[in-house]
Amino acid sequence: MKPFGYLRARSVAEAVRESAAHPGARFLGGGTNLVDLMKLGVETPGLLIDVSRLPLDRVTESADGALRIGGTVRNSDLAAHPAVRTRYPALSQALLAGASGQLRNTATTGGNLLQRTRCPYFQDTSKPCNKREPGSGCPAREGVHRDLAVLGHSTACVATHPSDMAVALAALDATVVLLGPDGARTVSATGFHRLPGDDPVTDTVIRPDELITEVLLPPLPDGTVSLYRKARDRASFAFALASVAVVLHVRDGRTEHAALAFGGLAHRPWRARAAEEILRGAPATEGTYEAAVDAELAAARPLRDNAFKVTLARRLAVDALAELAARP
Ligand SMILES: Cc1cc2nc3c(=O)[nH]c(=O)nc-3n(C[C@H](O)[C@H](O)[C@H](O)COP(=O)(O)OP(=O)(O)OC[C@H]3O[C@@H](n4cnc5c(N)ncnc54)[C@H](O)[C@@H]3O)c2cc1C
Ligand code: SF4
Repeated sequence: MKPFGYLRARSVAEAVRESAAHPGARFLGGGTNLVDLMKLGVETPGLLIDVSRLPLDRVTESADGALRIGGTVRNSDLAAHPAVRTRYPALSQALLAGASGQLRNTATTGGNLLQRTRCPYFQDTSKPCNKREPGSGCPAREGVHRDLAVLGHSTACVATHPSDMAVALAALDATVVLLGPDGARTVSATGFHRLPGDDPVTDTVIRPDELITEVLLPPLPDGTVSLYRKARDRASFAFALASVAVVLHVRDGRTEHAALAFGGLAHRPWRARAAEEILRGAPATEGTYEAAVDAELAAARPLRDNAFKVTLARRLAVDALAELAARP
């Protein structure tokens, strides 16, 4: 085991300051992913900066109707929050579809966004993996890749991002608030995670010393409905083979607003812009939904063993759109 230091940050400012002072340090949220990766030897930080007790554990409503979610709000608390359940059900459903009750009681908003891929080669230090060891290769491309990407992958990496919550946040047009030594900045949830390209080491656009302090959910127009659907090998404790978050506003039989994001298909939550373009202003019919989803998934490039994910994602998305549109 590699020895490491532990520091419980007493303030947000101290957390950021200590991170900047200790290159290679990691913030510790609930530890449900980071500690596992340390046990596997995948992560070897010299210092853990525990941020789990910082006063970032509140969900509050802004005067403009936006919801502010602190970076250390536990996944269970967020899923159960009345404003999330009533106004952003896709987020509540996505959280409840992830992990297990015990894990959700510990896991934080910031940690959930930054959890790492479950690609089996990434988690096995005896195997090559470009994400863990740049230039070593990607054995998943020709090896075990049933659970991996069908969209946006590269020759360097075909991993998927595992978070359910991040998929709902992308469809809900959330914003991630980051605080670093140079101050605060915001990034859209859609732009937070990146595609692998030729640099699969980097999952997101966060800088090494930045702390996720908040996630902001914008208010939704009256009449907007949302849901999250997930297909997986087991009914609980399993990552998405494919999932979809849909946010929809239908008026007088036409789609006024549609936002879709897929999970389990790519290195990041996959915002379905081509589908949204077709849905906007179009009649709210099953035929439109099928055409829209097919247009999006035309970009899919399945690997040898995961073409089934495209069919799965198509059915999930078309069903979700039809179900939401049928609501009174
Ligand atoms: C058996 C199992 C099944 C699971 N199934 C699912 C599933 O189906 N769906 C799903 O979505 N998830 C699933 N998970 C993953 C779980 O949701 C994540 O482990 C959890 O959300 C991570 O949150 P955490 O607070 O424990 O993060 P940590 O493990 O504490 O941290 C993860 C990463 O985030 C960084 N970090 C933490 N907080 C911050 C912050 N505020 N600012 C900046 N960086 C930060 C850490 O440095 C680390 O790099 C599963 C986990 C397990 C173990
Ligand atoms: S898919 Fe990505 S994470 Fe998996 S082995 Fe290839 S490079 Fe590593």
